[in-house]
Amino acid sequence: RELPGDPRSDNIPRQVFHACYSKVSPSAEVENPQLVAWSDSVAKLFDLDPKEFERTDFPLLFSGASPLVGAVPYAQCYGGHQFGMWAGQLGDGRAITLGEILNSKSERWELQLKGAGKTPYSRFADGLAVLRSSIREFLCSEAMHFLGIPTTRALCLVTTGKYVTRDMFYDGNPKDEPGAIVCRVAQSFLRFGSFQIHASRGKEDLEIVRTLADYAIRHHFPHLENMSRSESLSFSTGDEDHSVVDLTSNKYAAWAVEVADHTASLIASWQGVGFTHGVLNTDNMSILGLTIDYGPFGFLDAFDPSYTPNTTDIPGRRYCFANQPDIGLWNIAQFATTLSAAQLINDKEANYAMERYGTKFMDEYQAIMTRKLGLAKYNKQLISKLLNNMAVDKVDYTNFFRSLSNIKTDQNNSEEELLVPLKAVLLDIGQERKESWKSWVQSYRQELVASGISDEQRKAAMDSVNPKYILRNYLCQSAIDAAELGDFGEVRRLLKIMERPFDEQPGMEKYARLPPAWAYRPGVCMLSCSS
Ligand code: AMP
Ligand code: MG
Ligand code: MG
Repeated sequence: RELPGDPRSDNIPRQVFHACYSKVSPSAEVENPQLVAWSDSVAKLFDLDPKEFERTDFPLLFSGASPLVGAVPYAQCYGGHQFGMWAGQLGDGRAITLGEILNSKSERWELQLKGAGKTPYSRFADGLAVLRSSIREFLCSEAMHFLGIPTTRALCLVTTGKYVTRDMFYDGNPKDEPGAIVCRVAQSFLRFGSFQIHASRGKEDLEIVRTLADYAIRHHFPHLENMSRSESLSFSTGDEDHSVVDLTSNKYAAWAVEVADHTASLIASWQGVGFTHGVLNTDNMSILGLTIDYGPFGFLDAFDPSYTPNTTDIPGRRYCFANQPDIGLWNIAQFATTLSAAQLINDKEANYAMERYGTKFMDEYQAIMTRKLGLAKYNKQLISKLLNNMAVDKVDYTNFFRSLSNIKTDQNNSEEELLVPLKAVLLDIGQERKESWKSWVQSYRQELVASGISDEQRKAAMDSVNPKYILRNYLCQSAIDAAELGDFGEVRRLLKIMERPFDEQPGMEKYARLPPAWAYRPGVCMLSCSS
């Protein structure tokens, strides 16, 4: 059953009831739009010839100024919990889906313009995006993909040629910034909040939850439609009631468990590279387990479990680096509650999905950390001692793991020489902290020897999981500063570097450096929710 949106296809902000989407056309003001950057790799996903980027009308099409032939643009209705509180209807306030492309492999890819003007879901805001945040979204989507982390992708980035006024939250002064539009791409942009909104609107709309779940399963989890899984899974609910949850009898329960699994793997992979999303509200949780909505995200420089890139979250640090795994569970609980409210799953199945989130997260996280250290098996004590040392001495997360593969077992180091392979990343360690590090390196080397893996083999394996290049905030900021002056070269260069994060890339070493002093000046790399 189709769920048509409000028949008025306009963009007046309003509550949209009983509908999953509203038809709306891009309406951002555009004047001589320019192509800032594009991704050949995304173009390949839907067989788009890279020559198309050279078309003179390309920026017009991807700023929404010229309609795409065949497109029926719409904005999605969704709700969400923001910072732990139910926020009601949110929706695509500045994202407009152009349509879907079925590629030669019969994969369905949805194209969405972000920043192309108001929709019924814009609430009090303008539906626009600025170049600064659009460059961050464009580059990070691609950087995450090439780190091997599930994410929405970005086809291209254009400037609108118009200015957008933003209140700068750190000094309260309004600033005019260049407007821009990113074309985001994903197999689906459905979020937990896409289901929550309908369950929140009472009995009458529970049927919509089921219809949308059927749609999601049919298109994105087709293997659950005709379930052939024969296993029944038994689990303990912790209250000695050893209940059996049979995932073959209820496709919605099997689906909830898959969503929990995908979410757990996603967050484990974030922890592995030191990525902090910044705004893990339930409207920013993809049912496909993709990283979605790049706002005030950040990669760790110095290791700090309480790292909170979103300046407006600093009092509570709800979405700090170390909280992400727990927040994932909290969000899965909201998703399971929604499916329960719509009577798609029962309480046992809901509990099972949450339980699976926990076990899947631990399995994945332990596997990732084991690979990062080049170990043959997980060693909890060794890893927690390391993270503790790194936090105390504020060691750079990325560069440390990249250097760790320099440690060799095939020579007998004297105690004095133990830290030599790490000297570039343990620069500021005081004499009193050296003992702690030496003792760690000693235990680590023992574990390596016991693993029986050769130094060369281990180095190759470690360097293929510990990136040399990550999209540090200050790198983004340099590219933004140049782009705001009309030079898009640095954005394009950063994209190329971030497409090969595990390669040495001789000559590009400066892009692996720690943040310079200017990056710490107030206001420079500070980020807030929506810009
Ligand atoms: P976020 O915190 O980025 O997930 O955004 C929360 C909600 O605010 C979503 O419904 C967004 O579509 C909406 N939103 C964010 N920025 C804007 C904007 N500039 N104009 C309209 N809606 C926006
Ligand atoms: Mg969002
Ligand atoms: Mg956002």
